[in-house]
Amino acid sequence: MDEQKVAELNRIIRECKHIVFFGGAGVSTESGIPDFRSKDGLYNQHDVKFDRYSPEYLLSIDCLIDHPEVFYEFYRQKLNTAGIEPNRTHYKLAEMEKAGKLDGIITQNIDGLHQRAGSKNVQEVHGTTYRNYCMKCHEKYPYDFIFKSEGPIAKCPKCGGMVRPDVTLYGEGLPQTAWIESKRLVFRADCLIIGGTSLAVQPAASLAYDFSGKYLIVINRDKTFADRTAALVFHDNIGEVMDSIRLDA
Ligand code: ZN
Repeated sequence: MDEQKVAELNRIIRECKHIVFFGGAGVSTESGIPDFRSKDGLYNQHDVKFDRYSPEYLLSIDCLIDHPEVFYEFYRQKLNTAGIEPNRTHYKLAEMEKAGKLDGIITQNIDGLHQRAGSKNVQEVHGTTYRNYCMKCHEKYPYDFIFKSEGPIAKCPKCGGMVRPDVTLYGEGLPQTAWIESKRLVFRADCLIIGGTSLAVQPAASLAYDFSGKYLIVINRDKTFADRTAALVFHDNIGEVMDSIRLDA
């Protein structure tokens, strides 16, 4: 990694008062969670049983309603994060928040790893697998409810309705509170760090356009549309870059 860029990154972090982190799948790959869109990501793990459906369909509201048995089978096989631990990027961000150097995290991930690393202000714009609720009576259920439930479809013990994850499925709008809070964070930020996301999924990626603060920093293996307006761009491993941040300096 470029030493000069690392020094500049640390200088910007020392200078700024309202830093916000906006991240995606690349943040969790070091924890062993596949990136949905990368070459060997979830969408490309060919599973004979699901071959007849597109990955987008398997995580859509249409699939949940029309083919719930397929939805739950796919969800149980691919989205269980039990045994997966946060990595150095999650921990560094939690440390930054604790030190008063980070206003909040906006994440497109649904794995709950930021909270497990200790972060408090986390806006989950695509929801989370850590919460479930009954579609009929809205009773809430713990994170492992769907993975532990018996029978092809996870059903509410109270009313028999389907218990679904609090995840934004294809065909659904973003959770309003998280989205509004994310916009508020970005508008107020003097530094926005975009990390581990190719900015391919809208409307989440549009947050990059909303930023009008002093420093935009992009940390992503591949190029993104935000690179050309960024003050600093790292096409490196995000864990390594985050590791180079020194809060005690
Ligand atoms: Zn219910």
